[in-house]
Amino acid sequence: MPVIEKLNIVVTGGAGFIGSHLCDRLVQKGHAVTCLDNLDTGRFDNVRPLLNHPNFRFVEADVRDPLSIDGPVDRIYNLACPASPPHYQRDPIGTVKTCVLGALHVLELARATGARVLQASTSEVYGDPEIHPQPESYRGAVNTTGPRACYDEGKRCAEALFFDYRRLYGVPVKVARIFNTYGPRMLENDGRVISNFVVQALRNRPITLYGDGSQTRSFCYVADLLDGLELLMESDDAITGPINLGNPREVTVEEIARMVLRQTGSRSPITYRPLPEDDPRRRRPEIAAAARALGWAPRVALEDGLKSTIDDFAMRVATPVSPASNSAEPPAGLTAAARPARKRRAALSAVGSSA
Ligand code: NAD
Ligand code: UDP
Repeated sequence: MPVIEKLNIVVTGGAGFIGSHLCDRLVQKGHAVTCLDNLDTGRFDNVRPLLNHPNFRFVEADVRDPLSIDGPVDRIYNLACPASPPHYQRDPIGTVKTCVLGALHVLELARATGARVLQASTSEVYGDPEIHPQPESYRGAVNTTGPRACYDEGKRCAEALFFDYRRLYGVPVKVARIFNTYGPRMLENDGRVISNFVVQALRNRPITLYGDGSQTRSFCYVADLLDGLELLMESDDAITGPINLGNPREVTVEEIARMVLRQTGSRSPITYRPLPEDDPRRRRPEIAAAARALGWAPRVALEDGLKSTIDDFAMRVATPVSPASNSAEPPAGLTAAARPARKRRAALSAVGSSA
């Protein structure tokens, strides 16, 4: 993808798992990047290596508040939102506000600056789908009153706002429906399946399989996802999405457990836990639209992506720790990642170079 010009790019949620990889990539391509994050589920360490870069700045801010950015803005990637079920269910009302007010505020920022804006939407807009695989035309089956609704309905409302801002104000919008994405830098206590299984396997702790493990997901490696996000952002204005970005290889959760055990050589036993309420039974993206509109398809095989993910976790969790800190349960209160970050809050409110 040739870089045509140096762009001023805001990445909300830029200290998180996907956002920090995106910041890395955009800075490497010569763009001026403002990472905006409240460090809820993000880690300052994810962007620390970028701080001395003249084209990078970190702004600690919350998308639930109106946003203002010094200087011009050409692109906004709106990634700010906890993505793991235990994290987004920890403060469900806060999650709705992050999805809805966050969308409103980035759209206002786009309107004020003339920027193009991309929303990180989700396969969760399809809920527990009755159609398989899921095309963009499918309108979904979300339980509006269940524990996942704060995220699912929040993201659906955000999509509605994006298209209303386009219709009413002509804001150039892009909506990506991201399917399960994994890779290096996921939090140890993130609570999602791949991070849980890898951490548990590396520590020889029991692998926590929810339900009977027959539910399916389709896992996309983070580098593939970034290719898709960038292609969508830089596509013609007429291409708005929503567009599915995900890997169509579908596996059961039990298969994932066995792959992780095999690739780590772990002695962990598998233990069965209750299936969380409203856990979707099947999920696989239909990606013909992404292929057609963007020429995009994922390239990284699950086995290879898992290897990189395992290698990354192995460096972080090599030392076995007490069972309490290896919990697969939602963390109580703040995340382990957020606690030290918040202590540093005063020092961090705006760090790095002016972009
Ligand atoms: P993540 O939790 O690692 O990153 C989210 C980032 O947003 C964190 O840095 C967090 O601190 C920040 N954040 C949360 N609330 C905020 C707020 N109110 N104001 C400012 N910053 C805030 O999650 P991720 O996996 O990197 O996901 C990034 C985005 O992609 C999310 O919007 C998520 O909904 C979407 N998505 C991810 C997946 C996936 O499988 N990873 C799938 C579908 C959609
Ligand atoms: N899951 C599991 N064990 C875990 C974490 C998750 O069996 O320790 C299951 C979960 O019930 C779901 C699937 O793995 O069926 C994917 O869960 P994740 O939270 O990663 O993503 P989502 O449900 O949002 O797709």
